Formats: sequence, C-alpha cells, structure tokens
Amino acid sequence: MKDAFGREINYLRLSVTELCNLRCRYCMPEEGVCKLRHEDLLTEEEMLMAVRAAAGLGITKVRVTGGEPLTKPNILSICRGVAQTPGIRETALTTNALRLPELAKPLRDAGVSRVNISLDTLNAEKYAYMTRRGRLEDALRGIDAALNAGFAQVKINAVLIGGFNDDEVPALAALTKQWPVDVRFIELMPMPGNQSFGPESYIPVNSVLDALPEAAPETEDGVARLYRLPGALGRIGLISPISQHFCGSCNRIRLTADGKLKPCLHSAEEYGIKGLDEAGMAGQMRRAILAKPPCHGTLDAENRSRAARGMSQIGG
Ligand code: SAM
Ligand code: SF4
Repeated sequence: MKDAFGREINYLRLSVTELCNLRCRYCMPEEGVCKLRHEDLLTEEEMLMAVRAAAGLGITKVRVTGGEPLTKPNILSICRGVAQTPGIRETALTTNALRLPELAKPLRDAGVSRVNISLDTLNAEKYAYMTRRGRLEDALRGIDAALNAGFAQVKINAVLIGGFNDDEVPALAALTKQWPVDVRFIELMPMPGNQSFGPESYIPVNSVLDALPEAAPETEDGVARLYRLPGALGRIGLISPISQHFCGSCNRIRLTADGKLKPCLHSAEEYGIKGLDEAGMAGQMRRAILAKPPCHGTLDAENRSRAARGMSQIGG
C-alpha cells in the first residue's frame, strides 16, 4: 500500500531475534542487550501471521535480520514459512556469516534467495577488535559457503568508519574481482548506543570513490549507487543514509523481535502487534505505514538517531 506521502511500501525487515554472537562496537554494548522475556517475543506463528498480514497490504519482499538471525534455533522454518507465504516474491537474509558454513545450503533450500553479509575489514586483528569476539577466518568461511550454496545474489556490506577501515576501501572493493559479489559501503549511523565513535568516524561514503579512481558508474539499485571496477565480477555500492538520505524513496517497514512495527528506523514511534490476530496485525501495519514520516531529522555525530533502540534490536 501507499503511505501518506505516496511512497509504495513493499518491503518488510523482519527481526527474528535481538541476540547476537558478536558485539560490533557500532551496534551493541559489550555486555550485549538485555535478554527479552520469552513471553514478550513474537512466536514463529506470530511472525508468519505478520508476514501474511504484510503480504495482504502489498509487501512482496521480506528481509530476515536481527540481532544475528542465524542464532535463532528455528531460523530455517521461519525462512521457509516466509518464502512460502503467498505474495512474498523475495526472501532475503542479513547475517554476519559465522553460521553460514552449516546453514547456507539449508537456507537456500528453505527458499532464501539473497544473502547480505556484514564484513567491515579484511584484517583479522581489526575484525576481532570491532566485533569484540569474532574471528575473521570464520566469517570468510561463511562467505565461501554462501558463494557455493546457489543463492541468486550474495552481497557484502561494510560500514565505512573513518580511522578504522577507510584505508581498506581498495582491498574490500577488490573482493568484487575475486568473487561474484557486490560490495556495498554504508555510512556509519549515530545510533543511541554507539557514542564511542567521534565526529572523525562519520565520513561520507562518496570518499570511497577517491580511493577507486578506476570505478565506472552503473545504474542504481534500490538505495545503492553502483560502480564497477574494470573486469570485476561484482559491483561496488555506495549507501549514504547520512550525507544523502533516501527518505523520499523509502519503501520499508520494520518489525522487531518483540513485535513492534517501526514506521521509521530513526524514530521512537512503534506499533505493537504481539498477541493480535491477523486482522489486528494488518490494522496496526496499516497505521504504522500511514504514520511513516516524510523524513527523519538531521543525523550526525551530535544529532543522534531518535530510535529508542540500538541497531541490533531493530535489524538494520
Ligand atoms: N547480525 C546481522 C549482521 O550483522 O549482518 C544482521 C543484523 S545487523 C544489525 C544489520 C546491519 O546493520 C549490519 O550490516 C550492520 O553492519 C549494520 N549496522 C549496525 N549498526 C550500524 C550503525 N551504527 N551504522 C550503520 N550500520 C550499522
Ligand atoms: Fe551482531 Fe550484526 Fe550487530 Fe554485529 S552488526 S553486533 S553481527 S547484530
């Protein structure tokens, strides 16, 4: 359906858990997030009911996210249920890849067609530092498994952080020569929980092009402006939620693991659906879509997101 500003809302980001096996510094506090009470979480049946309600309102694409979705014990049956929902044409997943070696093929068989993998650095020490507990080699094994599982598309997302990985732009971009993947650089967002990043960390994603003079522009793909290195198998994407936001073409709505619909990533406004039947969920979804603001306010190191949650509790 269309929102109050004529934007067609056809994309649901479904967060299936707020928990994660990593603690990325821009996303989660070191101690993790407060575990929600089991009875406050959406059950699998409720998630799938919400997806049916969403499909009834014109949602055609669902991205399963988290927290880390692959830590959810019933992730395969959630993905299968989403993919089999009439009206859902695309089921995608965003993951840190750590559990992909065992789950990539079963996810593909469950109907997941596209996978986005988060990888901010190719340096093992920096990876351990940023994730506070992960091993780069495990993430790379996960990427390898994804590439061999037959997904229609595998993308790698890197959050661009000044002073941390801006020196790695050429190395990360070169992955598009090695593998048939798109590598997308995303601007760091000033979420409530990541105050340790100073102004120097927030750099415009256009700076990627300074490091890649040979990149040639290609057509846009959703929120990403695309480029290609000579002879590369995949493309480079630039995603600029801060320096050039894409609110005017926003097509999405978000559902958290505890059943809160978020009209906007950067607003505290939420609409609960826990415990409702499908018609009740559809009603709340309609309200949430009609409550989408035209745009969020200014975001930078001083003007932080008004989201009442960290990114791991929203799903990115
Ligand atoms: N755990 C999965 C993963 O890392 O891909 C899925 C959930 S994670 C919250 C989704 C995406 O949000 C990741 O690509 C992550 O890099 C991104 N993200 C988290 N915090 C962010 C921030 N402050 N600014 C920009 N991107 C962020
Ligand atoms: Fe976990 Fe993903 Fe957040 Fe990293 S970005 S802490 S992997 S939810």
